[in-house]
Amino acid sequence: MAKKKNISKAKSIQRTKRFTELVICAGIIGVSGFLIHGAMKRSETIERADNGSNIIEVTEPTTIPPEEVTDPNKVIYESLMVNTKDKYRGELILVNEDHQYFGGDENLVSIIEKNNINGISFFSALADPNTSEEDDLILDTVYDPMEIFIEDYYNLYYDGTLIIYGAYRSTERQQEILDEKGSEIAAKPGYSEHETGYAFDFSETVNYDYQGTGDHAWLNENCYKYGFIVRYTEEKTDITKIASEPWHFRYVGIPHAYYMTKNNLCLEEYTDFLKKYTYEGEHLEFTDHDNRKYEVYYVPSDDGAEKTSVPVPSGKDYTISGNNIDGFIITVCHDGIPEAEHLVNTDEPDEDTTEDSSEDASEDSSEDSTDSTSEDSSEDAEI
Ligand SMILES: [Zn+2]
Repeated sequence: MAKKKNISKAKSIQRTKRFTELVICAGIIGVSGFLIHGAMKRSETIERADNGSNIIEVTEPTTIPPEEVTDPNKVIYESLMVNTKDKYRGELILVNEDHQYFGGDENLVSIIEKNNINGISFFSALADPNTSEEDDLILDTVYDPMEIFIEDYYNLYYDGTLIIYGAYRSTERQQEILDEKGSEIAAKPGYSEHETGYAFDFSETVNYDYQGTGDHAWLNENCYKYGFIVRYTEEKTDITKIASEPWHFRYVGIPHAYYMTKNNLCLEEYTDFLKKYTYEGEHLEFTDHDNRKYEVYYVPSDDGAEKTSVPVPSGKDYTISGNNIDGFIITVCHDGIPEAEHLVNTDEPDEDTTEDSSEDASEDSSEDSTDSTSEDSSEDAEI
């Protein structure tokens, strides 16, 4: 009896084993069937995307909004893998007391040297003899638009007294200025826009006082056409937390300088504003003063990963800039990436010329001379 029992027990164990094997087998077949089905589905997706010349190379097909596929303009987006850390770079980075600059390796040029090479004498830069000649350094990409901007001004007013009173500053230099002038005047190291190389301060060699008035008003009013904004205005003091600095110019590129100026947005406001225009949603579309068309959208950075997938329109001109906080701004330039160009023709004055040249030079100098109290303001302008 006991033996029989054992045998039947062994048999039933065997049966159970077989049954289990069968179940596992069936399971495997089922799973692989599911996998094959999934693979086919994926290949279908890829094939569909393959219709365009450049396929959308995204690892997650779900990131392609279906409306892009059926877009009447047939804009095909492809994914660009960018270093997530690059959100700290580019002409749209917001640097202020809340957002530190993490740059480095800036491609800098000496304004004085460049002027010498180009035979330019209608403006100069002040290299502080007390420190080093680094005070006349600026980002290579900013020199040309700045030079063209100043040259146009010179051709309108024949005023050769402008100087660049500080552009790029190293973090060490910013520390020196803070030690020298105190936190009321100087930003803490790492938090000054001057450390990016995208900013410069104007002054002039008569009174060392630049207020953006008189003939200088043309510079403050027209800088956006060359890609610059007046970064700290009286009106936006509450937001920028920096007193009005009519002499401090910041390069952001022509499309953004245009949009911010025309819509009266400071960089803090603009950075926030752009976050509404995500890749998946509506893009910001506008046309600049020169009738060039743009499309702008925001892509959040994938902060947990080394790379962020940034969708860009295939075959179109675009630029990518970090915002220095949490993502990237993609600017699609439908009429090509704009470069600063001369807008003042010395032979045939444009409408700005006729309008502004009525302001007499003597009027301006009297204005400057009465303003003796602000003589040192440019010197103190160390934010
Ligand atoms: Zn400044």
